[in-house]
Amino acid sequence: MCRVIAIANQKGGVGKTTTAINLGIGLVRQGKRVLLVDLDPQGHLTIGLGFSKKVPVTLKNMLENIVMGIKFDPREVILHHEEGVDVIPSNKLLSGLDVSLIMAEDREILREYLMLLKEDYDFMIIDCMPSLGMLTINALTAADSVLIPMEPEYYAADGLMELLKVYSAIKAKFNPDLKIEGIVFTFDTPTFNNSKRNKKAVISTYGDKIRIFKESIPRAVTIAETASEGISIFAYDGGGKGAQSYQKLVEGVLDHA
Ligand code: ADP
Ligand code: MG
Repeated sequence: MCRVIAIANQKGGVGKTTTAINLGIGLVRQGKRVLLVDLDPQGHLTIGLGFSKKVPVTLKNMLENIVMGIKFDPREVILHHEEGVDVIPSNKLLSGLDVSLIMAEDREILREYLMLLKEDYDFMIIDCMPSLGMLTINALTAADSVLIPMEPEYYAADGLMELLKVYSAIKAKFNPDLKIEGIVFTFDTPTFNNSKRNKKAVISTYGDKIRIFKESIPRAVTIAETASEGISIFAYDGGGKGAQSYQKLVEGVLDHA
């Protein structure tokens, strides 16, 4: 059985892409077959794993084939990273598709495409863009669950409410089995009172309805440095706090069968 997890938060810079990469590679290190899907026209997941933005075939081409009903090889686009994870790359051309999906109100094409690959993987992890537009709606329609990285800052709870509204709407109308994988705090500075206070507020408002991962991801320069190295935190600084915290997230996701 393949589990599809969308990593979503309409706020930018909260650690979605970093979490997609490190959760994905962490799962590979536990023997799982994992596909990472870059669903952001910024292509950060693609670049952050060391692939060029100029890859000849991208997710956009695959989704267009689905829209047009053309026969195609769904695996043509897949790249293989040295740490054992497979990657579907994207670049800025994907934003053109977002516009046509909005026109057509098409929520199903990503789901239809990923169905063609499900036999090959234990996990698919979709790295969403920072918006609640049609690409993110496609991700929530294709997913079994949504994982929400969240920085413990004062305004974070507002964004969460918006995201949960979209989640509920998609679940009610298009994807009744959709679940929330959980909230993971990122950029945490555990010794700062501000972080503590904001985490507490989220836990007291949502903690009985939504799983909140006990271990948060610390703000750490080593985590920031992995992006330019094109590797995971496990390969970059395997003994450090960053790797430990992502390992806990991996274990939490595996426990949540
Ligand atoms: P998003 O995908 O939500 O926009 P990113 O994962 O791209 O967020 O993270 C934004 C920036 O912060 C990137 O430069 C990334 O390398 C850096 N970063 C991510 N997580 C951490 C962290 N825990 N500590 C320090 N820097 C981080
Ligand atoms: Mg990102």
